Amino acid sequence: MHRVYNFSAGPAVLPEEVLQEAADEMLDYRGTGMSVMEMSHRSAAFDEIIKTAEQDLRDLMKIPDNYKVLFLQGGASQQFAAIPMNLMKNGVADYIVTGQWAKKAYQEAQKYGTVNKIASSEDKTFSYIPDCSDLPIDDNADYVYICENNTIYGTKFQALPNTKGKTLVADVSSCFLSEPIDVTKYGVIYGGVQKNIGPAGVVIAIIREDLISETPPVENTPTMLAWKTQADAKSLYNTPPCYGIYICGKVFKWIQKMGGLEAMQKHNQEKAKILYDYLDESKLFQGTVRKEDRSLMNVPFVTGDKDLDAKFVKEATAAGFVNLKGHRTVGGMRASIYNAMPIEGVQKLVEFMKKFESENA
Ligand SMILES: *Cc1c(COP(=O)(O)O)cnc(C)c1O
Repeated sequence: MHRVYNFSAGPAVLPEEVLQEAADEMLDYRGTGMSVMEMSHRSAAFDEIIKTAEQDLRDLMKIPDNYKVLFLQGGASQQFAAIPMNLMKNGVADYIVTGQWAKKAYQEAQKYGTVNKIASSEDKTFSYIPDCSDLPIDDNADYVYICENNTIYGTKFQALPNTKGKTLVADVSSCFLSEPIDVTKYGVIYGGVQKNIGPAGVVIAIIREDLISETPPVENTPTMLAWKTQADAKSLYNTPPCYGIYICGKVFKWIQKMGGLEAMQKHNQEKAKILYDYLDESKLFQGTVRKEDRSLMNVPFVTGDKDLDAKFVKEATAAGFVNLKGHRTVGGMRASIYNAMPIEGVQKLVEFMKKFESENA
């Protein structure tokens, strides 16, 4: 067997132990004589899988009882519509646009109401997080929206915006479970799991109960997109992405075993420091993001020479460091170093970068 160091932004690396365990259970899940893939979502075995997954996530994130945890489908992108549909009672929302994903969410919300762009970092290719301490929040805003970690550009909100009492909605797709957070500061926390938690096909939404209306305020919201439908059915209104939820559950157990979110944060800080310290001293490679806004998860960097970038990506791939090509809108390289990337992966990448630098000086 041959495994590479996978720096993909998503779908992304998963803990090897989790994959091994899933392989061991593939043909016969714990004496049921079948795979989780073959199992009814109404079976006792699956009921235990989804309930345990939810409880483990609640324990890890210390989610208060007045928040629902939903396992949904349609990707984070589907929630770009579901969020305004479920929350726009006044028909107004404020968006902070710090990257492509926030921009897509902002554009989608415009279909359902009045949407204000109250801050943006597009003027400098989204390479920083704007000052969000005193923004022109609309008195009628139903919520303030952020993308907390910008997967493509490699920035992260180090402090949450001052929403002046309005509900905060956050897309945490690429920083989910990377560090402890205070759930009570948010109305809605959601993300696709394929960046840091599990296989593509599952979205987790953590929603304060009072934000789940009996009937969504936007007329003709599809039944499947009404959070009420999913909350009442405990994520089992229709067939959920069973196998994906099962893998997420295993990743939750793995994080618990690693020491929980405090330990994850420490592990992620150590890994990111190795890479950023090198980028700061390198004469060949530079980080593309304002230092104080750097993400622990996605690290974009460039040489400033397109041909040299391409040569680096090619040689890195041949050496077993894969998916380092940057997003097409930024160019250069991007190393995504999610929870499951071991520290050795980052150490070896930096050794490889140093060697490349000395050979291409
Ligand atoms: C990947 C990503 C998305 C899109 O996720 P899909 O599940 O493909 O819809 C949205 N937001 C962020 C921050 C992402 O990283």
